[in-house]
Amino acid sequence: MGARLQATEEDMMCVVCRQAETEMGQATVVLERGGLTMVVKQVPARVCPNCGEEYVDEAVARLVLRRAEEVARYGTLVEITQYTAA
Ligand SMILES: [Zn+2]
Repeated sequence: MGARLQATEEDMMCVVCRQAETEMGQATVVLERGGLTMVVKQVPARVCPNCGEEYVDEAVARLVLRRAEEVARYGTLVEITQYTAA
């Protein structure tokens, strides 16, 4: 189960189970970019309390992607990091 990378401005009904509204929480995002696998922990996300589906805000996803592209440039194959907004 991976995080959904999509815009979520406010609490919304979970599109997966349609049983509960998402709540603010944290997700672990796994990105694959060429040969790089990047795991970013503690990414702010909305999480469904019913099924556990994670929704990552588009702005947050962009930051994570940009970081992945920087890391990929150094030829790193696996990077495990913690989310920071900076
Ligand atoms: Zn759900």
